[in-house]
Amino acid sequence: MYFIDPHVHMVSRTTDDYERMARMGCVAISEPAFWAGFDRGSVDGFRDYFEQLTSFEPKRSGWSGIQHYTWLCINAKEAENVPLAREVIAMIPEFLDRPGVLGIGEIGLNKNTPNESTIFREHLDLAARTNELVLIHTPHLVDKYKGTRMIVDMLQERNDIPPERVCIDHVEEHTVKAALDGGFWCGMTLYPTTKCTPARAADIIEQYGDERILVNSAGDWGPSNPLAVPDFIQEMRKRGHSEAKIRKVVYENPLEFFGQSRRFKFTPPE
Ligand SMILES: [Zn+2]
Repeated sequence: MYFIDPHVHMVSRTTDDYERMARMGCVAISEPAFWAGFDRGSVDGFRDYFEQLTSFEPKRSGWSGIQHYTWLCINAKEAENVPLAREVIAMIPEFLDRPGVLGIGEIGLNKNTPNESTIFREHLDLAARTNELVLIHTPHLVDKYKGTRMIVDMLQERNDIPPERVCIDHVEEHTVKAALDGGFWCGMTLYPTTKCTPARAADIIEQYGDERILVNSAGDWGPSNPLAVPDFIQEMRKRGHSEAKIRKVVYENPLEFFGQSRRFKFTPPE
């Protein structure tokens, strides 16, 4: 089955990973800007990263026939440095006309601090001004419920970003309802150490349905699995779900969400 991984940090993965993903049916990925494992020292560090995301990475994914899309921002962890975050937000428009840029992301919260909230709001201002889609990271474990509530509140206190143009990612059993009830898209991340497993993701689909919901691997430099979406497909098959239903979640839904971006120029596989 063809699939799209809507959230995977391929700069941290090898070309062999692209090749294995392609063999499993991956036809496109989207790669949000994220934390590199260390705090960058200047706006130029981000400028170089955005250059990599919009020029070399699409070329490298193309070697395996995978279409590459991306999202730009300063992540919540580094947003704690407010002056640097403001410089990055001011620089992002330099890249917004590049092919394959889908919007602003993954912005959000990490430890739910006031500085993170300030910079989250300023990213939303940029997205509203430039009419960009938004991809949102929600915090890990104990901070997740409160952080997700704060994010939904900050989105709902304004009326210039329609909820269907926002994806709230890394939802779990206790946060999926807040995202869906608000009219937002949501993403389930299949991650070995935290977040969801393929079985829990299948449970959530069975409970909440298959509308406005995405499944991703969030593969990155930590313990993670860029083939997690095929694991989810297999779990759904074992439970007797139809191919059409599985295909909706792993292929048609990302197309519908990304299709709202004017720079999403997808070529369907033959
Ligand atoms: Zn991520």
